[in-house]
Amino acid sequence: MPEISSVLLVMLLILINLFNTKHASASVIEVQPLIDSQSRNIVRYCVDPDWLPYEAIVDGRHTGVSSDYLALLTKYTGLTFMLVPTTSWRQSLELLKQGRCELTPILNQTPKRDQYLYFSEVFFKSPNVLVSLKSQPFLQGFENIGDRLLAIPKDYRLVEYIQQYYPNINTILTNSERQGLEKVANGEADVFVGSMFSVNAYIQQQGLTSLKIAGWGGPEDELRMGVIHAKQDLLPQINAGLAKITQADHIAIYKKWHNITVIEDIDYSLVIPVLTALGTFILFLLYRTISIGKYNVHLEANNKQLQQLQLQLEQKNSDLDFLAQHDPLTKLYNRQYFNQTFLDTRQAPTEQNHHNNIGLIIIDIDFFKAINDKHGHAIGDKILVQVAQVLQTSVRERDVVARWGGEEFVIVCQHVQLINAQELCQRITDELTHFHFYNDIKVTCSYGIALLGEGEPIEACFERADAALFKAKQSGRNQYCSA
Ligand code: GH3
Ligand code: MG
Ligand code: MG
Repeated sequence: MPEISSVLLVMLLILINLFNTKHASASVIEVQPLIDSQSRNIVRYCVDPDWLPYEAIVDGRHTGVSSDYLALLTKYTGLTFMLVPTTSWRQSLELLKQGRCELTPILNQTPKRDQYLYFSEVFFKSPNVLVSLKSQPFLQGFENIGDRLLAIPKDYRLVEYIQQYYPNINTILTNSERQGLEKVANGEADVFVGSMFSVNAYIQQQGLTSLKIAGWGGPEDELRMGVIHAKQDLLPQINAGLAKITQADHIAIYKKWHNITVIEDIDYSLVIPVLTALGTFILFLLYRTISIGKYNVHLEANNKQLQQLQLQLEQKNSDLDFLAQHDPLTKLYNRQYFNQTFLDTRQAPTEQNHHNNIGLIIIDIDFFKAINDKHGHAIGDKILVQVAQVLQTSVRERDVVARWGGEEFVIVCQHVQLINAQELCQRITDELTHFHFYNDIKVTCSYGIALLGEGEPIEACFERADAALFKAKQSGRNQYCSA
């Protein structure tokens, strides 16, 4: 920021100088352009080919501040100017010394240059400035340069000035102002001195944003036109022409060629909208976070509810499975299960079953109708449940007990011989004898036993068992018969 304000201040000074120049020029006696053929001769001139915005040669054409002043001089003096192109300021000075150029349109007056040039009135002023890297301290002037290496364009007036007044400063001569600035930017030199006006333009154009104007550098440029001694008769015409240049013309040229763009200024007008947008965005994020948090709590509750429902459903399903395979009264396997397991799957006739030695026992409660009749159907049910308990506790773990229907049951035994089946029937009979049934009812059963023959369908075996049961009933009940 300090360098920017100093730049603006300096630009203001230039403007004031321009007005002063105009005022000074106005006091020069007006001389009419010469009208003889000699004065109408073309004036050959040389420029610094690389010193924008003062002057330069671009694509073979003269451009810059001095070009505009020559155009005005053409208008006010009737002189015609013809560029003699060169590739360096040094070459231009050489051609002037040799008389091959007669005029140079913008330069400072120095004692050395006085030896071969006459100078017009000052028509453009600009201070010289010191330029350094931004990291360097501000320098009050050449006095504070110390050991720093100072870059100066060769053949510029400042070289003479430094040699005369500050001979102890370490200097490095560069081919142009541009090269000098680049050396400072690259670290090859510490400080550069040059014209404020052109230095500023180079910094802007080349984007050398690491540089800053670090202080004033010597006397300000008082720029004039120079004509070779042989052409001194041009001077009155040129001065008269310069005097005719109006303040408006000076300002127009200045405005055209000064090129200030503030590189590092902060646009504070953007701060409020940016902060507002940022704040809004943060509020939005906050709102979303809270909303998502609430939604998550809601979702979690829903999930828990869903999990409970799923558990209930699984429970119901397993209840349904149980009901599908079990008798609701006695909780034994039902006929459906028996059929699915032993009839539908046709397990019985297999080799495996043969070796399993399967035995079927069909059990029927004796005189159950009478129990119902005497004690009622509800007690009859309870007796059925108690008989089922006796059957279940009497069999081995691998045996299957099912309620076949009514007061009939089936036991499927595996790995049994006939004797084992008979023993089981006897065990059940004994249990029933000692069991305390409701209302002290005495309960007995009859049993039909059949062992599954080799290759015999289980239905056939079942029929044989049923026939054996029938035989047991007929033989007086409370006994077993084997098929
Ligand atoms: P038997 O010794 O010849 O087998 O005589 P029984 O009376 O047991 O024979 P029957 O087949 O004539 O009678 C069976 C009775 O069982 C008839 C029916 O009312 C009864 N019963 C069948 N299912 C149920 C039931 O689920 N609950 C009750 N309480 N009684 C049933
Ligand atoms: Mg019966
Ligand atoms: Mg019966």
